[in-house]
Amino acid sequence: MSNLRKLTIETALEGLKAKKFSSVELTKSYLDAAGKSTSNCYITHTPEIALAQAAEADKRIAAGKMGLLEGIPIAMKDLYCTKGARTTAASKILHNFIPQYESKVSGNMFAQGAVMLGKANLDEFAMGSGNTNSHFGSVLNPWRSKKFPDKKLVPGGSSGGSAAAVAEDICVASTGTDTGGSIRQPAAFCGITGIKPTYGRCSRWGVVAFASSLDQAGPFAKTVKDSAIMLQSMAGYDVNDSTSVNKEVPNWSGNINGHLKGKKIGIPKEYRVDGTDQEILDIWAKGAKWLEEQGAEIIEISLPHSKYALPVYYIIAPAECSSNLARYDGVRYGHRTEEKFSSLDEMYEKTRAEGFGEEVKRRIMIGTYVLSHGYYDAYYVKAQKVRTLIARDFETAFTKVDAILTPTAPSAAFEIGANQNDPVKMYLNDVFTIPASMAGIPGISVPAGLSSEGLPLGLQILTKPWDEQTAFDVAQALENAAGFVRLENL
Ligand code: GLN
Repeated sequence: MSNLRKLTIETALEGLKAKKFSSVELTKSYLDAAGKSTSNCYITHTPEIALAQAAEADKRIAAGKMGLLEGIPIAMKDLYCTKGARTTAASKILHNFIPQYESKVSGNMFAQGAVMLGKANLDEFAMGSGNTNSHFGSVLNPWRSKKFPDKKLVPGGSSGGSAAAVAEDICVASTGTDTGGSIRQPAAFCGITGIKPTYGRCSRWGVVAFASSLDQAGPFAKTVKDSAIMLQSMAGYDVNDSTSVNKEVPNWSGNINGHLKGKKIGIPKEYRVDGTDQEILDIWAKGAKWLEEQGAEIIEISLPHSKYALPVYYIIAPAECSSNLARYDGVRYGHRTEEKFSSLDEMYEKTRAEGFGEEVKRRIMIGTYVLSHGYYDAYYVKAQKVRTLIARDFETAFTKVDAILTPTAPSAAFEIGANQNDPVKMYLNDVFTIPASMAGIPGISVPAGLSSEGLPLGLQILTKPWDEQTAFDVAQALENAAGFVRLENL
């Protein structure tokens, strides 16, 4: 096998099964490439874990026992607690945290034979849209603008390291988390596929919490089929997460078909938002045409409350974050100030002032404000009510259509540093992804084409809760039609 790093999960599994190469060989080629890469995708490399897991996988392969991800080298977003492997959430406050337990999702994946190459970079506590809020530095998107080749581009965020690592072929696939778009937007920026499943599909146990009513685990992969294999290995009920739902995990990958005959696809008119690049509108129209050509019926729909999704998210997510992040106080684990303090409160204050970055502090302050006496009803309670209206819009829409097609992000990847001093501009990146997060429904981003600068553009498919199969099916149809060529020969 000439280039092990061009394999998908599907083709790597075939090669491993046919004994064309071993998992140790496959893993070594990725470890080597990941070690040489300068894009800062990994916060921590875990070669000892990877090689031990690969050796175990080879034994199982020899015995003819193969799990869904047997021997496949992946990157794990550094938000998943991994037993014995440092887990930082890209924050100074957790720079020295080594979990004593495994997150449910990473444990599920290891039980299916996954090999962990390392912990992938992200925005601190998953707050951001460019991976520029990491204590461990920015991540470089491997794609280059044709017009401005010297521009260093963001991979998207918050799961930027996970997405860029797949695009750069320094892992076969990876995990992300998506609270408001953190899987779908980086997938779009890096020209790969990423799915946020239905809220409750994957356990949140052991995933460092940002906004618990929104956080969902999900995968990044090179193809739609690979995404389905990944999600199958990650998903499942967990008694330790009261919001995980006891539903069987379907064989999505085995059942994927790109058949659209009789399928109705909705185009929400409210998604033609101001400030969206013309190129995005063009690729969206093209996507609709591709689906129509394959037998789908395209129907204009209305999601009247989606325009409130962004402001509502930026009340609810900070509110939940301010509660979740209260636990980082320097007492039991994580960073503690080395400065002198004369009271417990002073120790907390110094620890938290040193340990959290600017964006995280901003969110804690917004969250504390909207939850405070006198503002709680005006902001938080009202936001929850509007959230229900947003979810109802989707319920109504799904009585008319099987899936909804939208752009994933309002632009292609932007330059590292851009939008950094204008939080609202940064937040606008999530305008197309957040409504689905508020409603808890599945959303998948598929690479659909290139901008005039030669940068990837993604399209998003949304379906009703628990109908990931339709999301995969429509995504497969898009993938077939788009003929998107991944970044080659890095
Ligand atoms: N970009 C959004 C935010 O900053 C979404 C992040 C996420 O999904 N984790 O909150």
